[in-house]
Amino acid sequence: MCIFCDIVEGKIPSKKVYENDYVFCFDDINPVAPVHVLVVPKKHFDNINELANSPEGALYSAEITKAVAEVAKIKGVNGAFRTINNCGEGAGQTVMHVHFHVIAGADLTEKLI
Ligand code: AMP
Ligand code: ZN
Repeated sequence: MCIFCDIVEGKIPSKKVYENDYVFCFDDINPVAPVHVLVVPKKHFDNINELANSPEGALYSAEITKAVAEVAKIKGVNGAFRTINNCGEGAGQTVMHVHFHVIAGADLTEKLI
């Protein structure tokens, strides 16, 4: 049982921003900035390590990258946005289905954390 697999399958409602055969993108339920979207592959990978080591890793990684750019365009922030991936509990990963945060609309500085 994985909450993001349930969202991808429509079993749990979400505010969809963009979708194609490979990715599902939706507003984060607890946004840290005016724009905060999660880009999630439709296939379950626990984290970026599993994604990288999968035979389909290159395909999904490319699709995720394109989706990040598409989401930024849809939200009108493609000139200034930040993408974050947390890998592992020690880095703050709370949902063990790899995902990329697209954050914008806040005062993003050169400081990362
Ligand atoms: P992370 O801490 O990197 O694993 O990020 C998990 C993110 O998922 C957090 O920012 C949560 O706010 C978000 N989240 C958890 N449940 C939901 C949900 N049902 N719908 C949308 N976002 C969610
Ligand atoms: Zn999953």
